[in-house]
Amino acid sequence: MQRRVQSRVPLPWISADDAWLAAQEKSGRALVRFGDIPLDWTDFRLTFRQTADILLRFDALERADYEAIVALGREGNALEPIVAQWYAATSGAGEARPSGAPASLDHVLVLALRPFLARCAEVLRQRVTLSSAHSHCPFCGWEPDFAYIVPSAERFLICGRCAAQWPFAPLTCPFCRNDDRGRISSFATRDGRYRVYGCDVCRRYLKAYDGRTASRPVLVAVDTIATLPLDAAAMQRGYS
Ligand SMILES: [Zn+2]
Ligand SMILES: [Zn+2]
Repeated sequence: MQRRVQSRVPLPWISADDAWLAAQEKSGRALVRFGDIPLDWTDFRLTFRQTADILLRFDALERADYEAIVALGREGNALEPIVAQWYAATSGAGEARPSGAPASLDHVLVLALRPFLARCAEVLRQRVTLSSAHSHCPFCGWEPDFAYIVPSAERFLICGRCAAQWPFAPLTCPFCRNDDRGRISSFATRDGRYRVYGCDVCRRYLKAYDGRTASRPVLVAVDTIATLPLDAAAMQRGYS
């Protein structure tokens, strides 16, 4: 569904000038402003609704939350300001999240916004040189959700919202920046294809696809789901 939507989202025109982009990047602030996202509201409403439908169908959304979320999408102009405020709150602009929203709204918005935000990252990747170590997505400000160890052994973090990739030190925790190797536990699956990094300072973990000996690059939609047993393994070891 996301691939289908993304194919019809136009590449956005990003009006920010290069100096502003460079300053944002340097200070670790998100490069994509809400107004830059090529949101066609009719299309977005449909994507929002379909995302909620799919999550409900696979028991990833409670029925009550689903009803409330779908109602938001139906109510004339209710959705637009909520999405704008939610994006500002979650891209490092320091605003509060929309109050009174259903608990699972985050889950639906992250997925529904992805095809639109991914197009922004596509454009900005060509315009901006990443110079600093970003623990959050340099494009949309969300947290990394997965990682990719490339054949040259460099590690790229992958944004859990716009799916952009950016390089980050292989043995530093992106959540608390702990870089004491003795306090990062790393274990691999038996076939060596996947890896988990657990941070013994903040107790969070990150999964990775190890591309060093693999025959294909990372496939985010496949690898994040193929590694669900690793989430259980990481949680069993006390990471969250
Ligand atoms: Zn992002
Ligand atoms: Zn940490």
